[in-house]
Amino acid sequence: MVNDVILAHRVAERFIQASAPIIVKEVNDKVEVSGPYDKMKDLIPYLRGKFEYRGNDRTWWAPKAKMTPIKMKNLQKKVDEVNGKFGPDPVKVEEPAEEKAARLEEAKKLISKAIHMRVPGLIFSPIGIDGAQLTGALTDLRVSINMSGGDYGPEFSKFLAQKIKPVEFEKLLDAIEDQGRLVAKAQADLSNIIPRNFQNLKINVGTNNGSYLFVVAGKTYDFKDEIKKLVPVTFNGQGSFWWAPIHQVKEAQVKKLIEYLEGEERALAEKWKADKVERAPTERAKKPNRRGDHCLTCGAWVDAGEGYLVDHWDNDEDELVYKVVHSDPSVCAEVKEMARIRHEKARTKREAQSNLYKLCAKPEYYVQGTGLKPPGEQIWIDKTALGYGGGTWVVIEPGENYFWYVKNNGADGDDWSHNNVTTGGAGAIGYRLPMTDEAKVLIEVAKE
Ligand SMILES: [Zn+2]
Repeated sequence: MVNDVILAHRVAERFIQASAPIIVKEVNDKVEVSGPYDKMKDLIPYLRGKFEYRGNDRTWWAPKAKMTPIKMKNLQKKVDEVNGKFGPDPVKVEEPAEEKAARLEEAKKLISKAIHMRVPGLIFSPIGIDGAQLTGALTDLRVSINMSGGDYGPEFSKFLAQKIKPVEFEKLLDAIEDQGRLVAKAQADLSNIIPRNFQNLKINVGTNNGSYLFVVAGKTYDFKDEIKKLVPVTFNGQGSFWWAPIHQVKEAQVKKLIEYLEGEERALAEKWKADKVERAPTERAKKPNRRGDHCLTCGAWVDAGEGYLVDHWDNDEDELVYKVVHSDPSVCAEVKEMARIRHEKARTKREAQSNLYKLCAKPEYYVQGTGLKPPGEQIWIDKTALGYGGGTWVVIEPGENYFWYVKNNGADGDDWSHNNVTTGGAGAIGYRLPMTDEAKVLIEVAKE
């Protein structure tokens, strides 16, 4: 009895084996072809040279990376031919109406499920009533897409319910979720180092709107060989940028690329810095300033359109920046002259204040007493530190034959014992002395 069962099993197994089709499947990074020997022997001449043979499970395989869509299509065609010799393709046989309806129903459910999936970098969007379009970086999924009955494209693939094979389609959804996890991880890994903008080089390293494509864009031409060497990117001629699916880019590679571009950025800055010494700003193209800014030459404000832009080396930031200068140099000259006069006046005033102090603050002019109130108008000489018990003023007595020089002495650390003049605070030290021509001039120049 037991033997009968085993025998029946063996017969059934052999029967199933012989009738089984050759199967093409995607396993990790390989495309694998296997099937019963009777059929495989007709396919082997085609596979030889293109595929490797693995003895332990009698499987022929090739790296997925080598299998372009055209190669996949040709392979599938060959496999279909060989499978077809051994009886009609079960899929091509007209399905019983109920089975067909059931399969279609399942396919629709799967498409609906796909549309509701939330996977980073891969999106199903509905097309028609019972179809969906998958967008994203699809190169790694091409075998699964083809096998599930999808219409493959590297960035867009189409799926129609009547064409998809539910079992294979479910496997595709799993593969999509796997890729989504890789994309999410890559986005997280890279989020600390990109986007990076290299201002001098005019190159950007980042993603397309924080999404699934890693992109190197801008003036990349001079650096293309090194960029290609450092990261596995390909060129998009239409958009003039280099790109790769983000999950195919490694953090270490991007770090190296950034280090390289930083070096180039510095080298260019150094070159500009050297050029700058030789190149006078006036020789540069005179572009009008579109925004107001302070003039690089004179420091005064330049309204929009009143000046032009010049290159300027910013030593703090160590980079070349645009600055604005007055388009009319006589404006700068006048501003500078005014500044010189102001500066000169301030210097003269400080000197006069100092000389007035030397003239007045002498023991012989000190007035004995307390709570004195010099008669006359208070003329401020120095108001700085007034709030802290400091400050200096002069009071000219009626008749202008005498004047008082008063130095506030109310700060916390001051010795108040000599305070003879009353103030709102702790008091001040007053000196009284005859008005002379010299004193008149000093007061006039020194006053606030
Ligand atoms: Zn100016």
